[in-house]
Amino acid sequence: SKTPVGFIGLGNMGNPMAKNLLKHGYPVVAFDVFPEACKDFQDSGAQITDSPADVAEKADRIITMLPSSANAIEVYTGSNGILKKVKKGSLLIDSSTIDPAVSKELAKEVEKMGAVFMDAPVSGGVGAARSGNLTFMVGGVEQEFDAAKELLTCMAANVVYCGEVGTGQAAKICNNMLLAIGMIGTAETMNLGIRLGLDPKLLAKILNMSSGRCWSSDTYNPVPGVMEGVPSANNYQGGFGTTLMAKDLGLAQNSATNTKSPTPLGSLSHQIYRLMCAKGYATKDFSSVFQFLREDESA
Ligand code: NAD
Repeated sequence: SKTPVGFIGLGNMGNPMAKNLLKHGYPVVAFDVFPEACKDFQDSGAQITDSPADVAEKADRIITMLPSSANAIEVYTGSNGILKKVKKGSLLIDSSTIDPAVSKELAKEVEKMGAVFMDAPVSGGVGAARSGNLTFMVGGVEQEFDAAKELLTCMAANVVYCGEVGTGQAAKICNNMLLAIGMIGTAETMNLGIRLGLDPKLLAKILNMSSGRCWSSDTYNPVPGVMEGVPSANNYQGGFGTTLMAKDLGLAQNSATNTKSPTPLGSLSHQIYRLMCAKGYATKDFSSVFQFLREDESA
């Protein structure tokens, strides 16, 4: 029988991810600071513990899925953190999207305790988390990749080794910077076309058979009524929150500063998503930039 796997962070993504581990026959020992998140997960048959340190006592393979760098630092190095009780030889996999520099710092601290840290952020939203079709971008020591892959495969369509620790995060924040630029571009283009008198469905169809096509136009169109089963069809509820996108664009900007890389459109996208957070769009899906750009409809 399989030994328990620890899981910390049972939110929109962590909950369905951990459920896929259960489905594949791994006993799961879990923790979240938010009691409601624990309750829902306990009902599906997992063991809930009191702290990350408790998880580390009960499992020598742990996956973390937390909002941001600060939460990851707390969960690993805090007063009740994983590192307080981690066993030698443990494998700690962080699937949160955080600053690659923080991943490297955490890896150093974990190594001091005789354990292994890998960063393995994901792409694919809540739907892919549910269906076990995420893509994991993995950074860390290559000899440990197979051990990580054994667990990640339960939740994934693709598990890709990227290089040394932090490179999984690098791949992730590059993808999300391009995603944001593409989404804003799609939204402003659709808005222009609509105001020029084009039917939005027809415009989307033409873009999708032309060189303007992208994921935001053909799979996640931001205009209500163009597609079914996407957040724009559901008042921008669910999906990938504007706050999280603004966070990822901030990470991309930090990295751009550190590496002296010019990212003018990434920078502008960051500002647009921060503005949206300040103007009531924080909890909506990031495709709501279409609505944000149309707010002055009467003008
Ligand atoms: P979420 O906010 O829904 O869930 C995070 C969970 O972590 C919450 O339940 C929260 O209570 C818990 N948490 C926070 N601090 C904690 C602590 N100190 N100890 C224990 N638990 C703690 O976020 P999410 O949508 O699940 O995203 C998680 C990560 O995955 C983020 O970094 C996000 O950028 C990334 N991501 C999200 C999506 C998406 O579509 N939602 C897609 C790809 C990647």
